[in-house]
Amino acid sequence: MIFTHAACLAHEPGPGHPESPARLAAVLKALAAPAFAHLPRHAAPRATPAQLARVHEPGMIDAIHRAAPTGSTIRLDPDTAMSPGSLEAALRASGAVVAAVEAVNASSGSQARAFCAVRPPGHHATQGASMGFCLFNGVAVAAAHALAECGIERVAIVDFDVHHGNGTQDIFARDARVLYVSSHQSPLYPGTGAANEHGVGNLVNLPLAPGSGPASFRDAWERVGLPAIDAHAPQLILVSAGFDAHRLDPLANLDLGAEDLGWLTRELVQLADRHCEGRIVSTLEGGYSLTALEECTHAHAVALFC
Ligand SMILES: [Zn+2]
Repeated sequence: MIFTHAACLAHEPGPGHPESPARLAAVLKALAAPAFAHLPRHAAPRATPAQLARVHEPGMIDAIHRAAPTGSTIRLDPDTAMSPGSLEAALRASGAVVAAVEAVNASSGSQARAFCAVRPPGHHATQGASMGFCLFNGVAVAAAHALAECGIERVAIVDFDVHHGNGTQDIFARDARVLYVSSHQSPLYPGTGAANEHGVGNLVNLPLAPGSGPASFRDAWERVGLPAIDAHAPQLILVSAGFDAHRLDPLANLDLGAEDLGWLTRELVQLADRHCEGRIVSTLEGGYSLTALEECTHAHAVALFC
C-alpha cells in the first residue's frame, strides 16, 4: 500500500531550501513505475489533535498552529520553515503513517506492508520542538497510536536516515515498549546518537564515521541492529526511511548506494514476517539528491512490495 497526499507538495520552505517539493515529486516518479502498479494507493488523512498530543506537548502543537502563515514563508528556526501549505502538509504526513499502521494492522503477510510518500519529514521533531526541517514527528505519532489503539505492545522503529532521529529518541527514551534503532553519520547534525545512548535499554545507536561505505553499514546492522530488533520481537516495524545516506546526497558524507538501503529493507521485511505477521510501515524522512531519492525509493519499494 502507498499513502500520500497532494497537500504534501504544497509545503514550501523557500527558494534554495534542500527540503523542496521536488523531493516528493522524485519519490512519486519512482513509485509510478510499472512494478508498483498493483499497489493500492490511499489519500492520507490528517492526524487528529489527540493523535499528535500522544507525543507532542500541547504548547508545541499550539505554537505550530499559531505560527502557520497565510502569506509569505516564515522560519521556526534557521532550518525549519512554514509556508501557507505547511500545516496541512504536516498533518497529512503524520496522518499517513497513522492510517498506514491501521491498514497493516488489519492485514497480514505481503499485504501488510506500506510506504508513506509524504513530507515534511518528522524524526527530528521532539516532544517540545519542531526542528531540522521537521514539524510533527509522524513515525512517533504512529508508534504511539499503534500502542494506544491497535492492540500492539512492542514496536521497533528503524531509522536509516543519515541524520540521527533525535526527536524519536527523545519521545521514546523512557518507553521500553518501543525499540529505536538508528544508523547515522557521526559527527553530523543534530549531534545526538552516540553509541552509549541506551535509554532504558531500548535505544540502539549505530554511528558511522564520515566516508563510511557499504561494509561498515551492513556490518553494524548485521552485528548489532538486526539482532536487537530480533530480540525485541516487535509486533510492528516502523521505518524512518531517509535516503540521504546515499553517496550523492549533498548534506552528508556516507558512501552508500540504493542497493544497500534495499538490502536493509529486505532484512526488515524478513523480521516483520518472523515477528509481526508481515506488518511494516515505512515513511519518507530525508534525502536531498533528487537522483538518489528516485533510485533509493525504487530499491526500497522493490524490497517492500515485489
Ligand atoms: Zn536526514
